[in-house]
Amino acid sequence: MRVVAAAVSRSWVQTRGFASTARRLDNYAFVGLGQMGYQMARNLQSKLQPGDKVSIFDVNPQSMKGLETEMKAVPSGAKVELAASAFDASKDADTVVTCLPEPQHVKAVYGSILTSSLPKKDRVFIDCSTIDPSTSRDVAKSVADAGQGSFVDAPMSGGVVGATAGTLTFMLGATTSLIPRVEPTLLRMGRKVLHCGDQGAGLSAKLANNYLLALNNIATAEAMNLGIKWGLDPKKLAGVINVSTGRCWPSEVNNPVKGVVETAPANRDYRGGFGISLMKKDLRLAMMAAKEAGADMKLADTAFEVYEDAEKREECAGRDFSVVYRYLGGKEE
Ligand code: NAD
Repeated sequence: MRVVAAAVSRSWVQTRGFASTARRLDNYAFVGLGQMGYQMARNLQSKLQPGDKVSIFDVNPQSMKGLETEMKAVPSGAKVELAASAFDASKDADTVVTCLPEPQHVKAVYGSILTSSLPKKDRVFIDCSTIDPSTSRDVAKSVADAGQGSFVDAPMSGGVVGATAGTLTFMLGATTSLIPRVEPTLLRMGRKVLHCGDQGAGLSAKLANNYLLALNNIATAEAMNLGIKWGLDPKKLAGVINVSTGRCWPSEVNNPVKGVVETAPANRDYRGGFGISLMKKDLRLAMMAAKEAGADMKLADTAFEVYEDAEKREECAGRDFSVVYRYLGGKEE
């Protein structure tokens, strides 16, 4: 896997065609301005040059308006344009970034862009949505079949905090030759690009990681609950785990027990963080992709039930996924 440094310099200039007609690829479209996309588009626009253009679109006009106001308040950065549709945003764009909730939204948006009226261009489409690799490959094929350039998958980790700070990590699925075209755009919104393999590989890596996270989170909640029930002090127990073989991100950074890690959502009634519904979504996608690949996942159904059940409870719904500890009846004093 190739890891790329974060430096983005204007001296790296994207060009197309022959040297004599070379020009910068400076028209961008950004579709999907939700919790992640809004912040990513803001960072992208602010790090581009005044000669560049970013055309933005979301089905929610309030997001578009709010973002336009924020972007225009920044003295530097690319020109901003509000588009009437995903098609409208993409028609002049050399680079189209999409950040949408689910596979069906990605399919619908690309279906609306890739019509016969779209001027032919060697574009690059970067989809940052977390969807299943199979849908992603279908969309990539439809881009290629339409003769509209290339499509890469670049799901991310880092959450809303990382999107706001521009410190996201992208897991890129793309042929190696496309990396120089895609990296500079991603590095304006994040800090790291991990090249995982050909198109679809970014999503496979992301879903495998999040499957492990889904299980580690439950296992940490269970182990902490068990130790506390045995009379162990939560901080001491976490201290042992975190220098031993059970150590993992949920035990060390996102510990589910209040008072163990000061910055963890457990200290704010599990508010903020990685929502239980997003965890459930990623787990569902991982299970779907595993089935297609013929990979046996013995713990997946049980883990899914835990998140599904927890989400139904008022005291857990809408909270960080570490709330599973509360769902298990863990002591919260
Ligand atoms: P979100 O629901 O906040 O935003 C999605 C946006 O897409 C919304 O503004 C919605 O109006 C817009 N949208 C839906 N259909 C559309 C269409 N047809 N045309 C244009 N816009 C449309 O979701 P999010 O939290 O920003 O997440 C986006 C993606 O990133 C998801 O796939 C998610 O799984 C993934 N992700 C999220 C996080 C996180 O912490 N929120 C972290 C990593 C990855």
